[in-house]
Amino acid sequence: MSRTLDSQVASALAERVRFYRELGIYDFYRRPTSDTLEVAPEPQPEQREEMPRTRTVAVAAPIAQENMSAIPKPEAAAADPVKALKMIREDIGDCTRCPLHKQGRKQIVFGVGNSRADLMFIGEAPGADEDQQGEPFVGRAGQLLNNMIKAMGLRREDVYIANIIKCRPPGNRTPERDECETCSPFLMRQIAAIRPKAIVALGAVAAKTLLAINAPMSEFRGRWFDFRGTKLAVTYHPAFLLRDPRQKKETWKDLQMVMKELGMAIPAKGAV
Ligand code: URA
Repeated sequence: MSRTLDSQVASALAERVRFYRELGIYDFYRRPTSDTLEVAPEPQPEQREEMPRTRTVAVAAPIAQENMSAIPKPEAAAADPVKALKMIREDIGDCTRCPLHKQGRKQIVFGVGNSRADLMFIGEAPGADEDQQGEPFVGRAGQLLNNMIKAMGLRREDVYIANIIKCRPPGNRTPERDECETCSPFLMRQIAAIRPKAIVALGAVAAKTLLAINAPMSEFRGRWFDFRGTKLAVTYHPAFLLRDPRQKKETWKDLQMVMKELGMAIPAKGAV
């Protein structure tokens, strides 16, 4: 088989490489052909529960292997996570890399919190309040996340909070594969800069995207995953808990698992 690239493919490839360089990604790895990133069929009822009722089905795109393996060269040199995060924010600029920039987003919602946090929470995408204020989890779901953090004996300022994508999808729909693929390298760089001891993925979309596993919440919860050398746990998304508060008890179990891992004291009687 000829190994010469057709000129159109070659120029598309060059464009792609340029794009990744811009993100600070220089190394690429061939994905094994057996490693098929399945696009999920209809989500299970439990998964669907996690999505706003108005949403149609769109399964989160797992972060592509080449993105997962990306070595964040520029900020690797910056031992100071504050500087590293600043560099990442500057690299994002007033991003127009995916269609969300012309679909009504007001601003980029980068992430907030302690740049040296031991614990990082990762949600799905900014909603209307977050888009308005430029900060993740500031709406009703954010209030509940604050309560979860407080129940752990922490303050919001102690942890770092981010999302899989940084722009609000129109109507709060589930992020599209392309949007996740385009945006997630920046999240990877944020994680690499902060180097948390543990990550909590909030909800199925965040879990599926980060872990590249298409599974229901029941298979994600109650265990640790390895995320590029960092422990990752999954719990329910606060927006889901607002709709089904009975699951708060389960969430508290997940958070206790995280607290135990971080060597934190667990209150005898805690609640979310
Ligand atoms: N839901 C999310 O997943 N992220 C936010 O920032 C707000 C709501």
